[in-house]
Amino acid sequence: MDTALDTTFAQVLRRSPGEVEFHQAVREVFDSLGPVLRKNPQYADAAVLERICEPERQIIFRVPWVDDAGRVRINRGFRVEYNSALGPFKGGLRFHPSVNLGIIKFLGFEQVFKNALTGMPIGGGKGGSDFDPRGCSDGEVMRFCQSFMTELYRHIGEYTDVPAGDIGVGGREIGYLFGQYKRITNRYESAVLTGKGLTWGGSLVRTEATGYGAVLFAQEMLKARGESLEGRRVAVSGAGNVAIYAIEKAQALGARVVTFSDSSGYVVDEDGVDLDLLKDVKEVQRGRVADYVDRRPRAEFVAGGSIWDVPVEVALPCATQNELTEEDAKSLLRGGVVAVVEGANMPTTADAVALLQESGVLFAPGKAANAGGVATSALEMQQNASRDSWSFDYTADRLTQIMVSIHDRCAQTAEEYGEPGNYVLGANIAGFQRVANAMLALGIV
Ligand code: GLU
Repeated sequence: MDTALDTTFAQVLRRSPGEVEFHQAVREVFDSLGPVLRKNPQYADAAVLERICEPERQIIFRVPWVDDAGRVRINRGFRVEYNSALGPFKGGLRFHPSVNLGIIKFLGFEQVFKNALTGMPIGGGKGGSDFDPRGCSDGEVMRFCQSFMTELYRHIGEYTDVPAGDIGVGGREIGYLFGQYKRITNRYESAVLTGKGLTWGGSLVRTEATGYGAVLFAQEMLKARGESLEGRRVAVSGAGNVAIYAIEKAQALGARVVTFSDSSGYVVDEDGVDLDLLKDVKEVQRGRVADYVDRRPRAEFVAGGSIWDVPVEVALPCATQNELTEEDAKSLLRGGVVAVVEGANMPTTADAVALLQESGVLFAPGKAANAGGVATSALEMQQNASRDSWSFDYTADRLTQIMVSIHDRCAQTAEEYGEPGNYVLGANIAGFQRVANAMLALGIV
């Protein structure tokens, strides 16, 4: 790395000890920025690197709630308002026991560049809690969300900070959060949250957008090499919102998705995933992937183990951070993988990314490939601002245009910097420059 990058990275390590995922996310971006800094000394002069690593504001709060047994429970809530050079802070809320400040900072940092790549007027932020909705009753989830919003409401707003969903936060949680915000503020401020239900300000296609977008990105990347998804064997890890709609779009484009997973193991279905069944298991019953096999006897459930041992041509990690390691990358290479597209945020470890790229595998980083979700959130904000609601087809077309333009922006930037086909470099540089230029224009703030 260049000296300015080295110095700033050392400062990040010193200021945020122990936040390993945050360090990893910063490192990955910094590894791409050397040539940009050499071309643009104005960034160093205005300390853009140091400023871009330091969130504008970090909020940590207590979330007390009462469970069904009448016991008082305490969780920790977070909102990291990372960068608002391009627009109001924008990014999801994650409810998962693994959540801590370092996780939210890594996600917020990624979000800044991802949102910049969409070309839409949104800054970056992220939040959440170490609350675990799994096993909680509906009433418990509601009381938790109400308590969480009772603190969060004072920090957010249509022009300030606009949260949405992430792991553990879907339509149900957004509903309870919006209800409490509306009640406290006495305002029907639709654009304060995205991912809303269709009858109360939500947008068509938002539910599908992250998964659809990742597959559209995969299709564009293959197209640039004269190939396509048609007839390909595909693995999609995870079984949440991103995974389900990645499977749906991949199947619509003629691919055969043979496997999906959750934290207990993975399912292999050589006949191709029965998506109606998977949706029923996950979205209606809120069950585990093993339940799928009970109702589909020819499919196999493998407890534990790695989904990346299943030989496929295209891999879409859509579960969580660091789920695809160097060992997994070796398995994928043995299985004949040609493309890896990140549907989740930072699911591939740095070693695994390096190995895949050295081996000539097409690799799409999440900040480009999974940007369809947040981009469609920005479309939801547009509809809210104009008190309009668009048709499915119109919104889906907008999403397609956005994914194609993100792909092209990354590809062109990589080419400009002498590394054609390096989507990691292209995404990092294109995202960084958009934010950095806005920061320069706004002065030292
Ligand atoms: N959590 C999603 C992401 O990682 C979506 C955020 C949003 O829609 O604001 O990009």
